[in-house]
Amino acid sequence: MFKSFDSSHLVENKNVQESVTEKVKCLIIGSGPAGFTAAIYAARANLKPVLYEGLQPGGQLTTTTDVENFPGYPEGISGNELMDNMKRQALRFGTDIRWGMATKSDFSGGHHRIRIDDSYLIEAEVVIIATGATARYLGLPDESKYAGSGVSGCATCDGFFYRGKDVAVVGGGDTAAEEAIYLAGLCRKVYLIVRRDVLRASRVMAERVKNTPNVEILWKHQTRGLFGDGVVEGASLVKNLGEAGEEEVNIKIDGFFLAIGHHPNSEIFADTLQLDEVGYIKTIPGTSKTNIPGIFACGDVQDPHYRQAVTAAASGCMAAIDAERYLSGEK
Ligand code: FAD
Ligand code: NAP
Repeated sequence: MFKSFDSSHLVENKNVQESVTEKVKCLIIGSGPAGFTAAIYAARANLKPVLYEGLQPGGQLTTTTDVENFPGYPEGISGNELMDNMKRQALRFGTDIRWGMATKSDFSGGHHRIRIDDSYLIEAEVVIIATGATARYLGLPDESKYAGSGVSGCATCDGFFYRGKDVAVVGGGDTAAEEAIYLAGLCRKVYLIVRRDVLRASRVMAERVKNTPNVEILWKHQTRGLFGDGVVEGASLVKNLGEAGEEEVNIKIDGFFLAIGHHPNSEIFADTLQLDEVGYIKTIPGTSKTNIPGIFACGDVQDPHYRQAVTAAASGCMAAIDAERYLSGEK
């Protein structure tokens, strides 16, 4: 069940349109589990955090229904309610939460400067980046039509809801192989929709998915659309698109999982921080430290592997502790 996000506690930044520079101790960018957890720890450590929410207040979990794997909620909790709780906890300790989008970064000459909404320039002693990552979608109108009603970008998160059912995973990389194998342990049958006649996945993962008995690989298939009365009941595919033998194929499924890659929200740091080849911010292993002292990254924007709310929250905690230690002189 969806619950609207409670924004009543927002502190609006009245100066955002003015081209003035504000100096803050701790700037947090992003309002998902990583950003809010960093804010809770930073505020309790008296770092006086200022947090910018970005275009998706509450982050990715506000786009889902129930979250059943976040510890502390034995009956599960709606994504919106969980994020509202985190926000209220951050506010309780004095976090200054503002509307606004970080649009540029400048970490040259030892400065930690972030421009907000292309106008307002903030200089911070420490910056905690928690801007998340977004699952890539095919771009079909049906993906939004059935969002939350059979379409998902996260098998670990939503697979449980499809126990004993038939589902499809789109993609041919390691993520698709991993998600298909994971879902095969829960579902009756898993179709793996692969657009070429080979998998991009590593050999070990490719062999594993090929040898999973209830996974059927649909080679050289592409998705045209989804169908169903309010919820996904099937997918319309095309085999051998644009080649001899092109044919339409319909499969009956209850869940349609995208696994064609993720996009870390790190563009504005591309010129200022070290990113990996996909765009994830590189951190020193076991820490939230980036290549620039005083700049820390947490959550999905620096995590190509786990991408879960609890791991994002945990790394937000790490970032606040690393930031506090940096400010107290520990390098
Ligand atoms: P996000 O939640 O992605 O938040 C990023 C934040 O950064 C947003 O507030 C955004 O507005 C802000 N932002 C981005 N760019 C800027 C900018 N330039 N300036 C200012 N702000 C910016 N995980 C689970 O553990 N359990 C689940 O059941 C589960 N279900 C999921 C269901 C769905 C449909 C999806 C998409 C994900 C699900 N996940 C689940 C994964 C989980 O949501 C993410 O791992 C987690 O939200 C990552 O937290 P984050 O704080 O790193 O980033
Ligand atoms: P990826 O390697 O980029 O693979 C994306 C897959 O999606 C490719 O097979 C691609 O097809 C397919 N695809 C992209 N756009 C598509 C479209 N529009 N329609 C249909 N298919 C489309 O992404 P990933 O699998 O998320 O992996 C990202 C990185 O993380 C990789 O380096 C991977 O090795 C790593 N990873 C490792 C593990 C592991 O080791 N266990 C697990 C997960 C991820 P084409 O092949 O035809 O381009």
